[in-house]
Amino acid sequence: MSFRKILLSAALFTATAVFAADLPAVKILATGGTIAGTAASNTQTTGYKAGDLGIQTLIEAVPAMKDYADVSGEQIVKISSNNMDTKTLLKLAKRVNELLADPKTDGIVITHGTDTLEETAYFLNLVAKSDKPVILVGAMRPATAISADGPMNLLEAVRVAASKEAKGKGVMIVMNDEINGARDVTKTNTTNVSTFKSPELGALGYISGGKIRFYKESTKRHTVNSEFDVSKLDTLPRVDIIYSHIDDDPVMAGAKGIVHAGTGNGSIADPTFEALKKAAANGTVVVRSARVPNGATTVSVPKYTEAGLLESDTLNPQKARLLLQLALTKTSDPKEIQRMFEEY
Ligand code: ASP
Repeated sequence: MSFRKILLSAALFTATAVFAADLPAVKILATGGTIAGTAASNTQTTGYKAGDLGIQTLIEAVPAMKDYADVSGEQIVKISSNNMDTKTLLKLAKRVNELLADPKTDGIVITHGTDTLEETAYFLNLVAKSDKPVILVGAMRPATAISADGPMNLLEAVRVAASKEAKGKGVMIVMNDEINGARDVTKTNTTNVSTFKSPELGALGYISGGKIRFYKESTKRHTVNSEFDVSKLDTLPRVDIIYSHIDDDPVMAGAKGIVHAGTGNGSIADPTFEALKKAAANGTVVVRSARVPNGATTVSVPKYTEAGLLESDTLNPQKARLLLQLALTKTSDPKEIQRMFEEY
């Protein structure tokens, strides 16, 4: 090799090394799910083993991530997210906060099953103590499937986590080229790759034409502006969801809080209402939500308000449950808790 060539390659090496060192550091926390799922054949898209592959395998499958971020991985759990529980949620939240407090971390991606993805995302939206990006990502097809959606979703999640534009927007879900805010997003289809939507309130942005494009952000409190702190918590108060239906009966469990998934605008069958009224009178905090996917659950018939029942705004029952759990770690005053339902 000529001296000139050596000099040239040394200069190139230095340029590449500086470039790599300049990339944002993104930590991928893996929890399992379909994105790490494997099946016996490449056409099998149901009944596979969720959470089978480890984080290193997922990282190695998408080398293009290294063009956008200095990526490293950590396995938190390897579960199908229908098995997510409070213990794991708190463990994840504490690790997220530890990493966010580290100046060496610029953003976090969490790989997660899609079944309860929106719950973990909203929980972290309420308890993550930083404006650095925290992005949740999953897949609808296992890693072994033809047209698996996981690799592109992971690449896009890392790109958003590494981007300056994602700072301060709260926790987000990136899947299928869409960026949705944790508060408003929900899983809308059991099997389709285009499942995560924010009905009515809409996506925050897209990844298209090779660009991250944001159009808006939530006006609700989150992350650095949240009053909730899980650093000293080992568990959360019990909150049950009661799903309304024809022939509802008033059987209630012994919970500190109840979310009622009502018909229409949080309506309640009379026998169930009597039981909820009694529960509220005995100090259980009862929040009216709705099994209807769109719209806010608002103040409605006076007897609900007189009985001290609260309203969930646009939070669906599973998200209202998480906010009520966190609210109950601070107070059991219904007025104060209603304030929280208006602010988060
Ligand atoms: N059952 C899987 C899970 O939630 C489904 C998925 O990841 O899409 O882990």
